[in-house]
This record gives sequence, structure tokens and C-alpha cells, in this order.
Amino acid sequence: MSRLQAVTDRIETAAHSVGRRPEEIVLLAVSKKQPLARIEALINDGQRRFGENYVDEALDKMAHFAAHDLEWHFIGPVQSNKTRALAEAFDWVQSVDRAKIVRRLNAQRPPDLAPLNILIQVNLDGEAQKAGCAPDALDTLAAEVAAAPRLILRGLMAIPAERSEPSEQQAVFARLRALFEQLAARYPSVDTLSAGMSGDLEAAVAAGSTMVRVGTDLFGPRPD
Ligand SMILES: *Cc1c(COP(=O)(O)O)cnc(C)c1O
Repeated sequence: MSRLQAVTDRIETAAHSVGRRPEEIVLLAVSKKQPLARIEALINDGQRRFGENYVDEALDKMAHFAAHDLEWHFIGPVQSNKTRALAEAFDWVQSVDRAKIVRRLNAQRPPDLAPLNILIQVNLDGEAQKAGCAPDALDTLAAEVAAAPRLILRGLMAIPAERSEPSEQQAVFARLRALFEQLAARYPSVDTLSAGMSGDLEAAVAAGSTMVRVGTDLFGPRPD
């Protein structure tokens, strides 16, 4: 069985076990640091959506695979001096976490492209070293994105800290789901909850994730 098939099967099993339809869950292939040959193999297996963490590396890959109709998501910490490249080259930015980035992406999105799809990254754990806006700053930031004509607010992204206790992991995912549902009730464009990676996709699907971001289990370990 291919790695792609194995991950697809995991998503399907996870969805069915909580009474969800597997088609509700999008698979984003996280290709950071992965060699072109592995990405090409996945494209040939039918994968179209890719997530990248480093702008320059991503631009090289986009150029290499320009002949394919791929969808590119930025999922790494956003530096304000890189927003132009994000606005010009990506379809989605999942890691928006402050107003300055919202204003720059909105101003820099080229007029001939569709509005840029935006997820707000929330930092559920208050971890200082991690990107993401604090939950109590979410409403203000969401209003800024929703008011920006060249952006479209699609939802939330989170990277919850690893918990060894399943009940603690479920609790943090439940907090994320509550934030997402509040946002979706307020903004009709909100339809995406990006949560779950190789290690925790089942828990994320159980908590209502609509997009899992999988690297290692799709490509193998990232070479250093
Ligand atoms: C690297 C990364 C992933 C993928 O992690 P794996 O454990 O390799 O599946 C998902 N989301 C983000 C934001 C990442 O940086």
C-alpha cells in the first residue's frame, strides 16, 4: 500500500468512527524539507494540495512544479518582510496571527488573483515560543480579516502541544472546536478547521477538523 493510501485510510477510519463523512476532511501534504522526487511521486499518485513552511524553499518548488495544477498553503511563521511573496504566490496562508500581517497581505495581493484564503492560527497553549494569536485576541483579528477585500476568512489553524493524556488532548481539541464554531456562526465564509498532523490526526478528526496537515507519514522522515 502507498503511504498516501495508508493516510487516506486512516482519515476514513477516523471519520467513520465518529460518524463523519471522510469527504469532509481535506488532506494537506506538508512537503517542507522533502526532496522534489518524493513530492513528484505524490503528485503522480493524485495529491494536489501542499503545505510549506519556508518561503524561499516553497517558491523554488512552485517553479519546479509549475506545469501541475497544485494548491499551495503557507503554514510556517509569517515574517512581515515575506508577505509580498506570500500574497503573490500562495493560495492559502494558514498562519496569520497579527493585524500587521493582515494589512500587508491585503495590500499586496495582486488584483488579478482571487482573494487570498486566510486561516488565523490560534495559540491554545499560551506557549511563548509558538506562533499564533491568543484566543482572546481572535475576535478582533477575525474582524480585520473579514473586512479586508483582498482576503477571505476561511477559519482557524492550530498546532496543539503534545499531551500524553488522551483526555487532555481531547480537551484542548474541544476548546479549538468551540472557537471554530463561534467563528463559523459569525462569518459565512468560515468552513475550515486545520488541525491534526501525523501523530494526532485521529483526535483532530474526532474534534471536527476539516483539514489535516500530514508530512512525515506521507513522505517519510524529513531529511536534515
Ligand atoms: C511540519 C508541520 C506539519 C506536519 O507534521 P508531521 O508530524 O510531519 O505530519 C503540520 N503542520 C505544521 C504547521 C507543520 O509545521
